Amino acid sequence: MLDAERLEILTESAKYDVSCSSSGSKRVNRGGGIGNASVGGICHSFTPDGRCISLLKILMSNDCIYDCEYCPNRASADVKRASMTPEEICELTINFYKRNYIEGLFLSSAVCESPNKTMELLVRTITLLRKQYNFNGYIHLKGIPHADELLCMRAAHLADRMSYNIELPSEKSLKLLAPQKTRDSIMLPMKKLQAATIYDKENKIKKCARVIPAGQTTQMIIGASPESDGRILKLTQALYRNMGLKRVYYSSYIPVVKSSKLPQTGAGLLREHRLYQADWLLRFYGFDVEELCGEDDNLAAEFDPKCAWALKNLQLFPVEINTAPLETLLRVPGIGARGAYRIIEARRFCRLNFDNLKKMRIILKRAKHFITCNGKFYGADGEKMIKASLMLSDDMHRCEQLSIFSKPSETFAALTGEL
Ligand code: SF4
Repeated sequence: MLDAERLEILTESAKYDVSCSSSGSKRVNRGGGIGNASVGGICHSFTPDGRCISLLKILMSNDCIYDCEYCPNRASADVKRASMTPEEICELTINFYKRNYIEGLFLSSAVCESPNKTMELLVRTITLLRKQYNFNGYIHLKGIPHADELLCMRAAHLADRMSYNIELPSEKSLKLLAPQKTRDSIMLPMKKLQAATIYDKENKIKKCARVIPAGQTTQMIIGASPESDGRILKLTQALYRNMGLKRVYYSSYIPVVKSSKLPQTGAGLLREHRLYQADWLLRFYGFDVEELCGEDDNLAAEFDPKCAWALKNLQLFPVEINTAPLETLLRVPGIGARGAYRIIEARRFCRLNFDNLKKMRIILKRAKHFITCNGKFYGADGEKMIKASLMLSDDMHRCEQLSIFSKPSETFAALTGEL
């Protein structure tokens, strides 16, 4: 098989993994090496559907001995198989890096021969990159469930970030759709990595010698199994609060594989988008999962989760912008985290009016229904009118093409999900 053909198969096979946004690494170039994951972070670029494409994202092999129902690379699938050696992946990474095609590497693999054998090859690859090629660029390594703990820890000393994918939001679904994986084979290495990062921090180990300086992430497939948004977000909340994860990624199920155990239609990008918005609210806005989901334990489709929460709690609004505490401002639709901090800072010097808020890039077409400024209220009257107005402004917003000349706050919000 030609090298180009193998490359196509292995990069194509990796595209379903979305747990690879890169940030937070402190790895610096040590004299004469190649790459630097520290200066300015890693360049991110995102495809229109939000997937990160700035890293060389590749599988070492797609020749899997496992048979996960949802996966195009599962053992029983009739697809072309390809593999690369550690040396080939190193050559490719260095060549792409030198040509400025990539800023780093996201390396994963199907389970070939055995979990330990696969993990050994992955560890060998990044050892070569770091020690032989002196590559200091960003490396995100995917952990292989059931592989030996020692291999996982060796990898953690070389990679910037690692991820063990939870894949499905419940143990029951994991058993049904990925029978060779177990909850423990995913959660135990995650716990080990967390313990190692806490140990390094507490013992003030030098930053360059710490394990996975950019932390851990994970991914869940949405819509391949029947779990509600509430169930998914509860797991997410526990992962952030108890396991110190940097990010949880959601991948909307796409029916690329025919199976009687799987739904015939995909979950759709709107559900994925709403989950990312709710995830943002859990991490930066002080919300709990219980506040965000409706009676059916799912997120509302028609409004973003913060608007949906505010509409359910209209008795708490409007709030006076000049006196409301930070935690209340963070809950106002249209006021993002940066906006809330700006308001707190600015009102130390003067009482704010609507013009001041506009200058602070508060999204007034949303916020005006939930705030007063010096006692003045310009929002719609009653739940029905507010809903109609919000829908109208959302529709107008959707019709606008996002451009590099959009207001910075809108562009930022569109890219990050800030609400
Ligand atoms: S372990 Fe499962 S998800 Fe991973 S490549 Fe193999 S079949 Fe696919």
